[in-house]
Amino acid sequence: MNHVVVVGAGLSGVRSVEALRARGFGGRITLIGQERHRPYDRPPLSKSVLLGDADSSFVDSDLAALEVDFWPGVAAKALREGAVETTEGELGYDGLVIATGAEPILLPGDGPQHVLRTLDDSLELRARLVPGARVAVIGAGWIGAEVATAARRAGCAVTVVEAGPAPLTHAVGAELGARTQHWYEGIDLRLDTMVASVEEGGVSLVGGGFVDAHVVVTGIGVRPAVEWLADADLDLHNGVVTDEHLRTSLPNVVAVGDCAAWWSRRFGTRLRVEHWDTALGAPEVAAATLLGEEAVYDPVPYFWSEQFGHMVQYAGHHQAGERLVYRGEPTGKWSACWLAGDDTLAAVLAVDRPRDLVQGRRIIEAGHRLDTERLVDPDVPLRDC
Ligand code: FAD
Repeated sequence: MNHVVVVGAGLSGVRSVEALRARGFGGRITLIGQERHRPYDRPPLSKSVLLGDADSSFVDSDLAALEVDFWPGVAAKALREGAVETTEGELGYDGLVIATGAEPILLPGDGPQHVLRTLDDSLELRARLVPGARVAVIGAGWIGAEVATAARRAGCAVTVVEAGPAPLTHAVGAELGARTQHWYEGIDLRLDTMVASVEEGGVSLVGGGFVDAHVVVTGIGVRPAVEWLADADLDLHNGVVTDEHLRTSLPNVVAVGDCAAWWSRRFGTRLRVEHWDTALGAPEVAAATLLGEEAVYDPVPYFWSEQFGHMVQYAGHHQAGERLVYRGEPTGKWSACWLAGDDTLAAVLAVDRPRDLVQGRRIIEAGHRLDTERLVDPDVPLRDC
């Protein structure tokens, strides 16, 4: 293999370059990224950057030392076997890493709406979060909650409009999400409320009603950025379909990060995880696969969110119908465990209880059964349950 092309210069793209070099690949590598920036981390965009504690979050990676040919501001437009068509012409490859991530879903309407995906988005939004500004955040998911945190901290008058019956409904279910509702103190939280469209001056609600806003932030989720692959002879289904080695349906093509839907041996299902830890870890396996080594991607997925002064961490993969057991009261530090039918731990969510997260992740990895009577006692360490 002489030339590897990596499309997408986010975390998973740059980690792919690093992993290829770390495994001794000495051929040519081209890294294509449609943003004008060098690779950066996204989690700080809704935290330290939005709060004004940092102005950037560039990944500490020396592209020159990695001897990578970096093409910023260049987009891939199409793929056929052996070549990527870009806005700067066609580029042949022997190996290809698809790392194009995800892009925010927008609401209908002609009014201005902010999203939060890029460094530029974050800096633009930050400039609008000034004392007294009326800010409407659409969606009380992970991003919506973090934006509401920053807007409240900046002294804005914040309305959060959520279609579900509780914050985080889509991510963790309404019952658990309801435990976070009291964090929204001082915010006009409208639950069970759907936005019809974004208009000049605010948002129209389904069934009538209008929320006045100087700033509208849409945080209703993302979709895998795979439009450029629409005509490629490649399996796409909720992202780029891969096997457990992160191999796609095309030879010598792997996919990583937010855009990849990989087969999980551990959970016996296909997973697409839109979180930082996956973008960090998957490229090791993808690089090995591309270089003909045997490697399997089979992590217990992990992510965190920082909202309203709380550290929320999640590990595992839960499914509807699994039993939820709580440890601790919602007013303090608490966690929640999803138990599968045989009392093995499927997932854990910890609020300001990092030990539960670390121990829970290990328990999930090991597949141990838990004693539910001990589990409900937050004073019993999770590893002893
Ligand atoms: P991306 O970071 O999306 O990078 C993909 C890159 O490819 C982008 O630069 C994109 O412009 C480029 N690209 C797309 N299409 C093309 C094309 N056709 N041609 C060329 N380039 C293209 N995760 C957590 O676990 N915890 C958090 O607290 C957390 N906070 C977050 C906060 C924000 C505001 C955001 C946006 C994400 C957050 N995440 C968090 C998620 C995490 O950042 C993502 O999972 C991670 O960035 C995924 O990395 P990636 O490289 O797969 O994709």
